[in-house]
Amino acid sequence: MASSTPNLRLENKVAIVTGGAQGIGECIVRSFVKHGAKVVIVDVKDDLGELVCQDLGVEFVSFIHCDVTHESDVENAINTTIARHGQLDIMVNNAGIIDEPNLSILDNDKAAFERVISVNLIGVFLGTKHAARVMIPRCSGSIITTASVSSVTGGCTTHAYTSSKHGVVGLAKNVAAELGKYQIRVNCISPYAIPTPMSLNFIGMDENTNVYSNLTGKTLGPQDIANAALFLASDESGYISGHNLIVDGGYTVL
Ligand code: NAD
Repeated sequence: MASSTPNLRLENKVAIVTGGAQGIGECIVRSFVKHGAKVVIVDVKDDLGELVCQDLGVEFVSFIHCDVTHESDVENAINTTIARHGQLDIMVNNAGIIDEPNLSILDNDKAAFERVISVNLIGVFLGTKHAARVMIPRCSGSIITTASVSSVTGGCTTHAYTSSKHGVVGLAKNVAAELGKYQIRVNCISPYAIPTPMSLNFIGMDENTNVYSNLTGKTLGPQDIANAALFLASDESGYISGHNLIVDGGYTVL
């Protein structure tokens, strides 16, 4: 018999989504709210973040300015979330950047390489560390990092990005091993190309250009990644930890 109450998979949960002001992160925010979570968007794009909050309702979503490369910002974002909501159940380390396309290793500038590593790897380390700090006493939590198919393949993008995405998968496995005894699960999601401001800018094309094909012949969208995040955030995935969930329509089997 059909239930009259909607199936809220994240009821009573509190989540942080870094890089939640646009793209994949924004879609994760929208899905989490739809499933009953209170969500805090953490981003450097204040205007976009506030717009999402107003659209979804400030009683469900709030914004904190935070550069994930600054430990004091990350610490403040976690502490402010606890002050607002009393708990943190789900940490989504999603903020990311990508380096210039087609940059030879010979032309790779050290500072540019460090910048990508700083956001994509150090930022994930800081988010994971400070989420763990507040999750351990409650013996509960799900930490999810948006990696990329570049975590398991080479050659499809630039050197710093690929290094950072391989790195976050290793970090997730290590932290999963340490935090399992506290019932804290740590996983990654690895998307193939999704039309977002980042990827459109990277390839210099518009969203009608079909460069996103995979084995299914379909274009992946942000909602495909949000669905994976919803699963890893919810109790349905309660026995899954240290996993890298590849969402690529079969791209990496080729
Ligand atoms: P996007 O550029 O559309 O969004 C990224 C968000 O992260 C932006 O809101 C940006 O302001 C924020 N951000 C960047 N640096 C930050 C910092 N230092 N501190 C806080 N916030 C910061 O990108 P997207 O495509 O939505 O990517 C989201 C994640 O998904 C990234 O980790 C990316 O590597 C990964 N990913 C994207 C694709 C794709 O094709 N779009 C594929 C695989 C993986």
